[in-house]
Amino acid sequence: MTQLKYNTEALRKKDKDHFIHPFTDFSTFNKEGSLVMADSEDIYVRDSDGKKYIDGIGGLWCVNVDYGRKEIAQAMADQALELCFYTPFGHVTTPPAAELAAKLAELAPDTLNHVFYGCGGSVANDTAVRIAHFYFNQLGKTSKKKIISRIDGYHGSTYMTMSITGVKFDHIGFDQHEDLVHNISCPNPYRRPEGMSTEAFCDHLVQELEDKILELGPDNVALFFAEPILGAGGVIVPPQGYHKRTLDVCRKYDVLYVSDEVVTAFGRLGHFFASEDEFGIVPDMITCAKGLTSGYAALGATILSDKIYDVISVPQAEGSLFTHGFTYSGHPVSCAAALKNIEILEKESICQHAKNAGDYFEEELKSLASLPIIGDVRGKRFMICLESVANKETKELFPPKAAVGDRISKRCQKRGLIVRPLAHMNVLSPPLTMSKTQIDVLVSILRESIIETTHDLK
Ligand code: PLP
Repeated sequence: MTQLKYNTEALRKKDKDHFIHPFTDFSTFNKEGSLVMADSEDIYVRDSDGKKYIDGIGGLWCVNVDYGRKEIAQAMADQALELCFYTPFGHVTTPPAAELAAKLAELAPDTLNHVFYGCGGSVANDTAVRIAHFYFNQLGKTSKKKIISRIDGYHGSTYMTMSITGVKFDHIGFDQHEDLVHNISCPNPYRRPEGMSTEAFCDHLVQELEDKILELGPDNVALFFAEPILGAGGVIVPPQGYHKRTLDVCRKYDVLYVSDEVVTAFGRLGHFFASEDEFGIVPDMITCAKGLTSGYAALGATILSDKIYDVISVPQAEGSLFTHGFTYSGHPVSCAAALKNIEILEKESICQHAKNAGDYFEEELKSLASLPIIGDVRGKRFMICLESVANKETKELFPPKAAVGDRISKRCQKRGLIVRPLAHMNVLSPPLTMSKTQIDVLVSILRESIIETTHDLK
C-alpha cells in the first residue's frame, strides 16, 4: 500500500454535498457522511486516514482475485493506449471483445455460446428480458411477456430489473412494472412453514411455480429469473433438487430460465459458473458481471443458448435491425481486464482454492451459529450470511430499531474488518484468495463483535 495524503474532512464534505450514493439512508448519511476508502492490497483496503481493514465483502461481492493486481491494471493501460474505444455497433469488433466472447462461450455450460455485453448486472438482466421478448416475437408467440421471480431475489436497479427484484424493502417509495412481474415464494429453508420438512418445502415451491405459470397462462409467461443462491436477499441456498425441478417446470411450459450469476460466477462458489457445476442445471441464459473483471472495470454479460441465438439472429425484415445495445457494449478496456482476470483465475487455480479455503471459511463461520443471537449461518464457500434473532427457538427477530446487523458491522469495522449489514443480517463475500490464517483472523473478529453486540442488546 502507498503512503496516503488525503484531506478526509474536505473529501467527506464534497461527497456529502454532491455525490448521491446508491442504496443510502439519507437520515444517517446526512449525519455521519461517508467512510473514504482510498487504498488496497491483497484482501485489505485502507481508508483515507490510514486505517486498514480486511475486506470481508470483496468490494460488493465482486473483487474475486483480490486487490492490487498489477497484471490487470497493465492490461487495461495497454488496451487504453492501443485502442481506448471503438463502436461495437453493426459489424465492428475489437480484439479483446471478440477474445472474451469466445472465452466465455468456452467456460459457460453446454450450448450457451453467445455473449451480449453491457456495463453491469442490471443491464445484463434487462438485456435478458428484451432478448426473451424479441425471441418470442420472432417465433410469433407475441403474448409471452410476463416474468416470474422470487421474493427476496435481487436482480438489479434499472426500472425493469428492480421490478423483477423481489426484495420488498427495495420497492418502498418507487414504482414497479407490476403488470409484467409476478413473484413466488423465497426458497429459504430456515423460514419454511412451521412443521414442514425441507423435502415437502421443495415440493411446495416447485408446485407454486407451476401453479403461477398456469394462473398467468403459459402463453403469457416468457421468463423465470433465479439466482442459484439468492445474494442480497440474505444468501439463501434453495433446498436440494430445487434448481433442477424448477428448470423442468420452465421447460414444460416453454418459459425461458435465466440464471442470474452476477454474484455466483467466476469462482465465488468454486466454479466459473455455478448453475451447472454446483447445481446441475443448464439454463437458457446466464447473466454475469462483478467477478467477471473482479471489479477492476465495469462489465456485464448476458450469455445465450444456441436455441435463442438461432431465433434472434435470423435476418430481420428489410429496414429493421436487432435494435438493442449500448455505446459501451464490449468496451475494450473492460474486456481486456476480464481476459486478464480470467487468466489469473485459471493460472492460479483460484476456483480450486475457493473450494478448499471456501469450505473452511463456511465451516468456521457456521461454528458461530452456537452464539446466542445467531439463528442461522447459511450460504456456501465464499458467500455467507449470518442471521441474528432475538429468540433461537421461535426465530423471532429483534425489533428493526435494534439495528443488530448494523451494530455487528460497526463493531467489526472498529476491529479492522468490513462486513455488510442487511437489516438483521450480516453478509460476507471476501476476495477468494484468502488464506486459512486470514480466515481465522476474520472469524475471530466477527465472533468478538457478535459477543460484544449481544452484551449491548441485553
Ligand atoms: N443480480 C444480482 C444477483 C446482484 O447481486 C446484482 C448486484 O448486486 C445485480 C444483479 C445488479 O448488478 P449491478 O449492480 O452491477 O447492476
